[in-house]
Amino acid sequence: VQRNHHEPEFHQAVKEILDSLVPVLAQHPEYEQNSILERISEPERVVSFRVPWVDDKGKVHVNRGFRVQFNSALGPYKGGLRFHPSVNASVIKFLGFEQIFKNSLTGQPIGGGKGGSDFDPKGKSDLEIMRFTQSFMTELYKYIGPEVDVPAGDIGVGAREIGYMFGQYKRIRGGNEAGVLTGKGIVYGGSLARKEATGYGCVYFVNEMLASKNLSFQGSTVVVSGSGNVSIYAIEKAQQLGAKVVACSDSNGYIYDSEGINLDTVKQLKELDRKRISEYVKIHPHAAYTPGCDGIWSIPCDIALPCATQNEIDAASAKLLVDGGVKAIGEGANMPSTLEAIDVFLSNDVLFGPAKAANAGGVAVSALEMAQNSMRLSWTFEEVDAKLHDIMKNIYANSIKAAADYGHAGNLVYGANIAGFVKVADSMIAQGVV
Ligand code: NDP
Repeated sequence: VQRNHHEPEFHQAVKEILDSLVPVLAQHPEYEQNSILERISEPERVVSFRVPWVDDKGKVHVNRGFRVQFNSALGPYKGGLRFHPSVNASVIKFLGFEQIFKNSLTGQPIGGGKGGSDFDPKGKSDLEIMRFTQSFMTELYKYIGPEVDVPAGDIGVGAREIGYMFGQYKRIRGGNEAGVLTGKGIVYGGSLARKEATGYGCVYFVNEMLASKNLSFQGSTVVVSGSGNVSIYAIEKAQQLGAKVVACSDSNGYIYDSEGINLDTVKQLKELDRKRISEYVKIHPHAAYTPGCDGIWSIPCDIALPCATQNEIDAASAKLLVDGGVKAIGEGANMPSTLEAIDVFLSNDVLFGPAKAANAGGVAVSALEMAQNSMRLSWTFEEVDAKLHDIMKNIYANSIKAAADYGHAGNLVYGANIAGFVKVADSMIAQGVV
């Protein structure tokens, strides 16, 4: 804690992991002998840089860029880039730290990293986005590469931003290193089903949790927060599996549609028009819009999928969900539940799928995109989706097994943390003191 002043999100993420490693350390003295906890919670490298850019009126702005290369024991650093005003060193470090264990859980050969900027893409023109992303990449390119560090999207970074950054990277480096970024457009090296992967994967994971209690999405009522990349495809897959999704949100407020959300409208508003979710009620007047984000958790539901951002569910919101009859939570976002909220869920026997397991589908398919780039071929949507489904089932099974092996049967927080940690720790020991 003393080494990382003013980094509350990073402390929270590290505490969650360390708490669940107590039974592992008791059985494996070699981890303490090798100071694995001290090493694993210190990034291998942190880069922070100035990103100057010019707006449409000719005014110069400056943002701060980050890349945290946290752990390369399993492979090249891998993790998204986030563009949001809330981005700071603590947020990027928490995300990079989580990424180590998530990437390990996927079974793919990828290390952990994360990056981004406090740039706010909202309300910016296409040209402003292009100038910013080009400036960002003009510094970032020095630290990344297909065998070194492979960024992808996250909040505020989708196919448009990845496209501009890929173009700038090639312009500086020459050649065509397609594997340097994932989440690319399909016609220039992207993978089919990458856009859908995090949301679909989250629903596949929750489906495994539900099946363990003879429950399913069929006929259930679902609430999904956010209306971005993860949310939209979580809604799509939940609907395909027979659920009624009654609410979603953005950072201004949420909509409630008792007849079930019309996903085509949400896609049109969010993916194409880049508008606010409040516009939904103009097209579907029977639905209701409520300003503010917290109220969404007071809507009674069987399954809640928080897919917006960190700490969006605190203990009070968790209690509202429990009072509303929630049976399962699948974390599509990174760390959307506070530690206190997780306690509320676990002590009320709510099935709980933690982020690093439940939302690992996105990075898993990013690794499949890297594999396709290396082989210079493209798999079909069905092939990638089938691999994603298998990966999510494996993550569930491995997490359940690790939880049982270390005396916390059924607890996926313990299970995911332990299963993710052990592979990284053993690899670090095998590779010496580096
Ligand atoms: P997007 O930018 O596509 O969407 C984010 C959504 O969350 C938007 O609806 C946004 O609303 C809302 N949101 C963002 N910040 C806040 C906030 N502070 N308060 C309330 N709502 C907010 O991002 P993604 O869908 O890609 O990412 C969502 C979450 O999923 C993040 O936690 C991300 O780290 C995680 N994740 C994403 C993966 C991916 O493949 N994309 C992979 C694994 C995890 P608004 O439009 O108003 O900003």
